[in-house]
Amino acid sequence: MTIHVLGAGVAGLTTAVRLVDAGERVVVHERGADLSASASWLAGGMLAPYCEASVADDGIIAPGLDGIAFWAGITKVERCGTLVVASGRDTADLRQFAARTTAHRWLDAAGLAALEPDLAGRFDRALFFEDEAHLDPRRTLRALMARIQAAGGAIRFDDPVEPADFAGERIVDCRGLSAALPRLRSVRGEMAIVRCRDVALRRPVRLLHPRWPIYVVPRQDDVFMIGATMVESAAEGPVTLRSAVELLTAAFALHPAFAEAEVLEIGSGRRPALPDNLPRVERTPQGIVFSGLYRHGFLLSPAFSKTAADMLMSAKEPT
Ligand SMILES: Cc1cc2nc3c(=O)[nH]c(=O)nc-3n(C[C@H](O)[C@H](O)[C@H](O)COP(=O)(O)OP(=O)(O)OC[C@H]3O[C@@H](n4cnc5c(N)ncnc54)[C@H](O)[C@@H]3O)c2cc1C
Repeated sequence: MTIHVLGAGVAGLTTAVRLVDAGERVVVHERGADLSASASWLAGGMLAPYCEASVADDGIIAPGLDGIAFWAGITKVERCGTLVVASGRDTADLRQFAARTTAHRWLDAAGLAALEPDLAGRFDRALFFEDEAHLDPRRTLRALMARIQAAGGAIRFDDPVEPADFAGERIVDCRGLSAALPRLRSVRGEMAIVRCRDVALRRPVRLLHPRWPIYVVPRQDDVFMIGATMVESAAEGPVTLRSAVELLTAAFALHPAFAEAEVLEIGSGRRPALPDNLPRVERTPQGIVFSGLYRHGFLLSPAFSKTAADMLMSAKEPT
């Protein structure tokens, strides 16, 4: 019997991969015309369990580390850690960040320059989270789709669906913010993608700042993703002028050569979040609902998709 996965964001596609890998027949239904309809398309792709434990429960660390291993079997994962920096007047923020996190070491200016030569002379101190990683979300979503199709699964675009459309069939509801989970809310995230040939970075760099903490994630071909705002809002519209200014100013604060970057894209997505900002996998009469990934879609979907697929496959088929 076919399993229907609703939504082709990172939650739906990782769950579909788990299911086809277990030999199930799967159809993914996506309302968008292609993969770009999801919040996942706009993500930074940071796999940063230790840094993220500063804003979430410590319980995300173990599944987050397992997630890095999962992704390495799907796509190219850069395992070169995360740097966290702050300008001289914000060093108290850096100390506080260190106090709220684990698995890091302090670098002085020379240590920072050794890791990222283009940041030489720009910051006196940095925190280095050596065991963290990052990936390119768009390349990763395409790789997930290819894997599902290669295993005989199907992905149907332009196909908006509701659980009620599948009476008597098994479903996994991964529709992000539209998933049937009470108390889901939207946390809007705005981001920019730029090309800058004058700065080279190997790893994500987080810049702590009292008003606009941002990060810059390197991608291939001199491209960088600059993210991301955190706005408690369900608004879907374009990026506001204020957010665009904050994102681009912060990149400039990280390195002035970003002033000459070409802005390739500015976009906004809506992160599905629950009151405790942790994901949920729950049984429903028709199968499973899986959402609430908040700012940890790539970090936590490997672990939670396994739970979702296992729960579905161990349940009795609906009659
Ligand atoms: C700017 C930004 C930066 C981020 N950076 C990171 C990061 O660095 N690391 C990280 O781990 N996470 C990051 N995240 C968080 C991550 O993107 C989210 O947690 C993740 O996208 C949630 O995945 P999802 O599959 O649940 O939802 P979505 O990605 O939103 O996917 C849901 C899909 O369901 C589809 N859908 C909705 N309704 C229907 C319907 N009725 N029928 C069919 N399809 C439907 C939607 O079109 C969509 O494609 C970031 C998010 C943003 C916005």
